[in-house]
Amino acid sequence: MICKNIASIKENIKAIALNAGRDPRKITLVAVSKKQPIERLEEAIACGQHIFGENYIQEVQEKKEYTGETADFHFIGNLQSNKAHLAAHYCSMVETVDRLKIAKILNKHLQELGKTLDILIQVNIGLEPQKSGVAENEVTALIQSIQHLPQLRLRGLMTIPPFHDTAEESRPYFARLKEISDQLIRQGILEKAQAALSMGMSSDYHIAIEEGATIVRVGTSIFGERLIQ
Ligand SMILES: *Cc1c(COP(=O)(O)O)cnc(C)c1O
Repeated sequence: MICKNIASIKENIKAIALNAGRDPRKITLVAVSKKQPIERLEEAIACGQHIFGENYIQEVQEKKEYTGETADFHFIGNLQSNKAHLAAHYCSMVETVDRLKIAKILNKHLQELGKTLDILIQVNIGLEPQKSGVAENEVTALIQSIQHLPQLRLRGLMTIPPFHDTAEESRPYFARLKEISDQLIRQGILEKAQAALSMGMSSDYHIAIEEGATIVRVGTSIFGERLIQ
């Protein structure tokens, strides 16, 4: 079932991208495996899936120790300072950097490990008080401070729009993230190589691709219900 789901999502990504005049190869599928047992990841790996998304760092640790080089993990949850060393060690990307403090701590641990780490900046477009992410008007300042941290490779921006009943309601948030990214490029604050846009989940990745997503994070449509409590 997981193989079939991955294949059909990849087909969808391709069709939507081509329809939107985009190159499907520029879109990366992150299989969100949070709260999914390791057997399901193994199944996905066997079907050629390599990148997984997790939002509990202990789960990343357990799963990465099991999969080794056969899987890479993107951290997509709220990273706490006291867990940053695990993210530095086990993740290939942290998509949710939203404050200088956490960036500095990551940088310090990476220095000790002699590693670099790809990161995205999470932007809180909906300005929802309960949601993490940096406010739009603070993105530039955060990027400029992060650029002084040598172990961090800034790759772009990420957002989680407010929860909506219909996918179409996410569109303005996705469009806005793209606008912010384009503007930062025009201002010379971001380089083209730093213009990744992580947006879209099971319910709305089709809209996100139309609006320029280069990373989509799909969980339930691949793995079904989340099992681990
Ligand atoms: C859980 C999660 C997803 C995947 O959501 P689905 O609806 O299962 O596809 C994507 N992004 C983030 C940040 C998540 O926490």
